[in-house]
Amino acid sequence: MSNPSLLILPGDGIGPEVMTEVVKIIDWFGAKRGIAFDVSTDLVGGAAYDKHGTPLHDDTMARAQEVDAVLLGAVGGPRYDDLDFSVKPERGLLRLRKEMDLFANLRPAQCFDALADFSSLKKDIVAGLDIMIVRELTSGVYFGEPRGIFKEGNERVGINTQRYTESEIDRIARAAFELARKRGNKVCSMEKANVMESGILWREVVQKVHDEDYADVELSHMYADNGAMQLVRAPKQFDVIVTDNLFGDVLSDCAAMLTGSLGMLPSASLGAPMANGRPKAMYEPVHGSAPDITGQGKANPIACILSFAMALRYSFDLGDEATRVEKAVEKVLADGLRTADLLGHEGETPISTTEMGDAIVAAL
Ligand code: ATP
Ligand code: MG
Repeated sequence: MSNPSLLILPGDGIGPEVMTEVVKIIDWFGAKRGIAFDVSTDLVGGAAYDKHGTPLHDDTMARAQEVDAVLLGAVGGPRYDDLDFSVKPERGLLRLRKEMDLFANLRPAQCFDALADFSSLKKDIVAGLDIMIVRELTSGVYFGEPRGIFKEGNERVGINTQRYTESEIDRIARAAFELARKRGNKVCSMEKANVMESGILWREVVQKVHDEDYADVELSHMYADNGAMQLVRAPKQFDVIVTDNLFGDVLSDCAAMLTGSLGMLPSASLGAPMANGRPKAMYEPVHGSAPDITGQGKANPIACILSFAMALRYSFDLGDEATRVEKAVEKVLADGLRTADLLGHEGETPISTTEMGDAIVAAL
């Protein structure tokens, strides 16, 4: 059998910096565990635009469709702010998500013991926290038509459209219920059915999927604004949260702060099963390209490393090896090693991106 295949897209800003640390871990697996990956590396985002005039070359897109998993760093940066919308770095990412049909974005928010007192909340509110936000990723207001800035009388109007079909809601609900069965068996669905038609349909379909096929899972519904409040008030009441594209974006950034830093948060985007039974998948840290710290050796590589761990678990059936990576991260944090974004106490000195990567490899 051929080796599991992985397409690495480092992207822009700190993307390449954190990806360098992941590659060390991939090399470690080859050398020490006899697990070799068939790795190819390519451009995405601003880096691809600079070379090809497009944020995602067709050849790269084709390769992404072939491999077992894509691992992406980050895209974007101030250098590309003035580009036309159609070639903005983010379009490369959106195209990958859309053409691979990665409709389920999994964002775990887990609080490592060593960082519990670093959270923006009191320690007892977050200690032991382990929740999973399942965000719909291929529809909603990010894609709905009409969209644009139009002339209306003698002023302009900016328009986006929130749009969800029953089948889109159905499949994301199923993804959430399936995950819940492997975790705490609890799903909270968030929308704004009080003010949005799409929210009314969302609530109805999620409830129907539950009643028909997942009655064993505990289901609750919450307005997304209340959900945001509950997330910072008492986040441990949740297990799996399922929500739409836009609310999911906001709520998962909110959840990020529960765990300490954007630099800690991995994500997986999953689609329909491929021939081998495993889902099409792309893994990426939740954080962006962080232009403010690019090139300074300050970036925390843990989010990207934990994203690779998710790939081990969901795309390569290597759950034990995923746990091994997560334990190594836990160990270096328990040992007190901190990148600059994780400094909480006086007298702590930060280590660099490279030092953090090396420490995690050593802990492996
Ligand atoms: P995007 O629009 O791509 O989501 P953003 O503008 O929301 O990007 P990020 O690039 O995620 O922002 O950065 C937000 C803040 O978090 C910045 O101050 C950045 O330096 C910090 N940050 C993000 N990722 C990391 C990381 N891996 N390590 C350290 N700090 C980070
Ligand atoms: Mg952001």
